[in-house]
Amino acid sequence: MSPVIELERVSKTYPGGVTAVRDVDLSVEPGELIAIVGPSGSGKSTMLHLIGTLDRPSAGAVHIDGYDVARLSDRQLSALRARRIGFVFQQFHLAPGRDAVANVADGLLYSGVPKKERERRAEAALVRVGLGDRLTHRPHQLSGGERQRVAIARAVAGDPAVLLADEPTGNLDSVSGAGVVGLLRELNAAGTTVLVITHDHEIANSLPRQVPMLDGSVI
Ligand code: ADP
Repeated sequence: MSPVIELERVSKTYPGGVTAVRDVDLSVEPGELIAIVGPSGSGKSTMLHLIGTLDRPSAGAVHIDGYDVARLSDRQLSALRARRIGFVFQQFHLAPGRDAVANVADGLLYSGVPKKERERRAEAALVRVGLGDRLTHRPHQLSGGERQRVAIARAVAGDPAVLLADEPTGNLDSVSGAGVVGLLRELNAAGTTVLVITHDHEIANSLPRQVPMLDGSVI
């Protein structure tokens, strides 16, 4: 099997001169479940952004699904991102006035799928994350753990190959956090490759592979 993610000597220097990621090599096989760990400022989010093609490296090569990201136009890159990669963030990023179905369906806006079908897939994704009885709830009517489940449903509604989660349990109590991690495990067991940044040692140690970072390097 060929890697779904491959970083070759990847570096990222921000305008202003901070080198957040330095000479990183990383290879991820389809179906892996990985914890990215390390102190604040060690480059974890930057690396996840590079993997998610939200940002381009200053040096080195990023391959996603066999594509060399540097060889893709912005349009091709958006298409790769929309079809193959799902994102989950610590802050949920849900639209306040929109119910759960609308929030998830909006994630499929650029997929070319008609509205009715977007809503059908959104409902299916919400059922999958255990929120079948919260379809018409708006974010303020949901608990933190439930909001994060909506965000995860949005990330997986398009059936991405890779799910990238940046501190998804950072704003949750330990019980809700454990539920979210359990959900990531289920999605992984169903075939999605999952990379999750976490500060929580217990969570990190419970996952099959850890990628430790320090000062921009994978150690
Ligand atoms: P982590 O996720 O491990 O906390 P980050 O990748 O967020 O680390 O940050 C790594 C380093 O890059 C930090 O020193 C941070 O200040 C810097 N950094 C992050 N984002 C930017 C940015 N957009 N512009 C400039 N510097 C940044």
